[in-house]
Amino acid sequence: MSAYDELIAHARQTEALAQVAGRLGWDQQTVMPRGANAQRSEEMAALEEVLHARRTDPRLGELLTQAEAPDAPAAANLREIARDYARNTRVPARLAAELARLTPLAQSAWEEARRADDVAAFLPWLEQMVALRREEGQAIANGGDPYDALMADYEPETDSDTVAATFARMRPRLVALREAVLGAEAPPPLTGHFPQEGQLRLARRLAEHFGYDFTRGRIDLAVHPFSSGSGTDVRITTRVAVEEPFNCFFSTIHEVGHAAYEQGVDATHLLTPIGRGVSMGVHESQSRIYENQLGRSRAFTSWLHGAMVQEFGALSVADADAFYAAVNRVHSGFIRTEADEIQYNLHIMLRFDLERALIRGKLEPADLEEAWNARFKADFGYPVDRPANGVLQDVHWSVGLFGYFPTYSLGNIYAGCLHQALRAAVPDLDAQLAKGDLAAATGWLREKVQRFGALRPPRETIAHACDGAAPHEGPLMEYLEAKFTDLYRL
Ligand code: ZN
Repeated sequence: MSAYDELIAHARQTEALAQVAGRLGWDQQTVMPRGANAQRSEEMAALEEVLHARRTDPRLGELLTQAEAPDAPAAANLREIARDYARNTRVPARLAAELARLTPLAQSAWEEARRADDVAAFLPWLEQMVALRREEGQAIANGGDPYDALMADYEPETDSDTVAATFARMRPRLVALREAVLGAEAPPPLTGHFPQEGQLRLARRLAEHFGYDFTRGRIDLAVHPFSSGSGTDVRITTRVAVEEPFNCFFSTIHEVGHAAYEQGVDATHLLTPIGRGVSMGVHESQSRIYENQLGRSRAFTSWLHGAMVQEFGALSVADADAFYAAVNRVHSGFIRTEADEIQYNLHIMLRFDLERALIRGKLEPADLEEAWNARFKADFGYPVDRPANGVLQDVHWSVGLFGYFPTYSLGNIYAGCLHQALRAAVPDLDAQLAKGDLAAATGWLREKVQRFGALRPPRETIAHACDGAAPHEGPLMEYLEAKFTDLYRL
């Protein structure tokens, strides 16, 4: 057996175990009996210990010095294995254990603090978490920038200075667009009562139209929608609020985008390091283009309008045009996950700047709330009313996810680039979307992005699909400005 073959065999087995751990996580959030909590955490901890030992096995280091790649996919596999190994062996076992112990405690402290609007109660937990992640970032960075090192866990080979420069160009344009839109007359929202059964029936139809393969997946209910798994077992979840059907429909389409990426990777890469989405940003580009550029388009919402009338009877909005306006309604609010396509990115930029300063030691947790509130007022034009709507709204920092937030906006930027290239490749796209036909769009994404998995690093993955053009914010900004200028008659 060659060193390369031995590495791949090891990686496949590790990935198989990681998939089992992922499925336990899915089970926990969907069907696990409530009484199983304590046993489940022991089961997960046991698996994590096995995984950690495999990922830091010194034998990998030896094999990596000997392995040679026979072709491009093999070279990409070696790149992924080497990066993960370097990262995992740089984190002292003591630090990994402290993070594992702190995370569930900090998360419950955050849940409690958010309920009580009590920033001070969460502060000691945040201080511990920031201290450990700073240390971890420094260990992984090995002399480099600790925030970039943490960000690389979600978006490898992308530096935060480039991201900061991109965001700095986008921010004034987004603020101006938000001001113009909120100064214009707002369209009426969709109101009414939409029973769960009908919503789930239509959600399944949507998933089918967007190409979700039910022979290799399933949809269940969960508190927070997510997608999990890879290859031949990629599951998604959704949720239902009887008065907000768009929540169910668009989060289903979003998760189908994530799932399509995993289901779309070439079967030959199954369970190998490149047999999965290359980064959170590229993953998010798939979910966002499905949800927004395709799902919230005028053409597709005209089909969805008809499907909703068929399922629920007459709607509160007059026609397909009013329905499109209701789907894309911009309103002032505090919460990232409820934000429209314009304000969403402003939410991300705020978090990115603050968390980068936290990890670099330029902002202390004790000053975080004040910094958040000042920045929110500057970008959104109105003050935060309470911490649960401000600094305490997201789970990420409580579980130590620093460096994750920018991947949401990178996903939007990548989706903008892909959308532009897709429109050029499929000139009659709108005519197809208006019939609810997504085959050409999802087929193009599979052909240009999904089937390659992690063959190329994130930015190269997008550039490859866009005739070599490096990803940049231009297409997203032009799309947003055109869409909302038209919608709000600015
Ligand atoms: Zn997502």
